[in-house]
Amino acid sequence: MNPSDSTNTLALDIGATKIALAIVDGENRILRRSEVKSQQPNLANELLKGIKSLLSGEKSIASIGIASAGPIDRRLGNISPVNIPQWRDFPIVENLKNEFTEINPVLIQDAVAVALAEHRLGAGSGFSDMLGMVVSTGVGGGLIINNHIHHGLTGNAGFFGHHSISYLDEECNCGRRGCVEMYARGPAMVSRAIQSGWECAEDFKALAQSAREGNDIAQEAIDFGARALAVGIANVMAIVDVNVVVVGGGVSLAGEVYWAKLREHFNNEIKQVGFVREAQIIPATLGADAGLLGAVLAAREML
Ligand SMILES: [Zn+2]
Repeated sequence: MNPSDSTNTLALDIGATKIALAIVDGENRILRRSEVKSQQPNLANELLKGIKSLLSGEKSIASIGIASAGPIDRRLGNISPVNIPQWRDFPIVENLKNEFTEINPVLIQDAVAVALAEHRLGAGSGFSDMLGMVVSTGVGGGLIINNHIHHGLTGNAGFFGHHSISYLDEECNCGRRGCVEMYARGPAMVSRAIQSGWECAEDFKALAQSAREGNDIAQEAIDFGARALAVGIANVMAIVDVNVVVVGGGVSLAGEVYWAKLREHFNNEIKQVGFVREAQIIPATLGADAGLLGAVLAAREML
């Protein structure tokens, strides 16, 4: 298979539960998609099988974009997704290059891909600078500065979830203390509610529904998580001096029961940072395909 005259891109979005695969055309339409489970033996082989099956019938592709859970190393083309233990310094770029010798796959961190997609095609369109956030089972971010992605040295700039907002608190999985993710991720809000006696032990969706129905434990847990995120966002916006943040991910889809709290805490925090004027916090608009679309944009723009 070679680049030839196709404008189609093969996109991968590598997460802890699944690897989403898609063929996307030159107008960002997803033509075909499939997925490979992330937690299985011989994942590298299974991924290649999945890709070949998706591409069967495709004459050629123009580019390959890979969005991956972090950390990654763009210099080496390696990935070490925290929740895929069998891949440590896994050479994903080299693996794909061996199969598609004419194409240089472009690797980008998944939350950075979401930020890029939201900036080019979604809620961040028209802003030259923005912070993009993803809040779901984890918390991540990406920075757009002067219309360009800021990757950082290794591709992990905006590794938002593991900046500390409480350095004397308990240890995070990453080894630091008091990381934003420890409080703001969906499962953390659920755990907090359960510890306070909330009995519908399920997931964040159930917690949000319970809060909507007026359960005060559920409301307090969501308030706590939203406040942690707001503090983290204000930290980053002040450090980078940007005034727009776009927030996506599963937790952000809970609607007003989450957003009312997030906005309230965000406004309280950011108003203390006098130089960040006309600050805006905006819901993402691209939904679950934002990572795939960001991978496509990165590949096409060779970022
Ligand atoms: Zn951490």
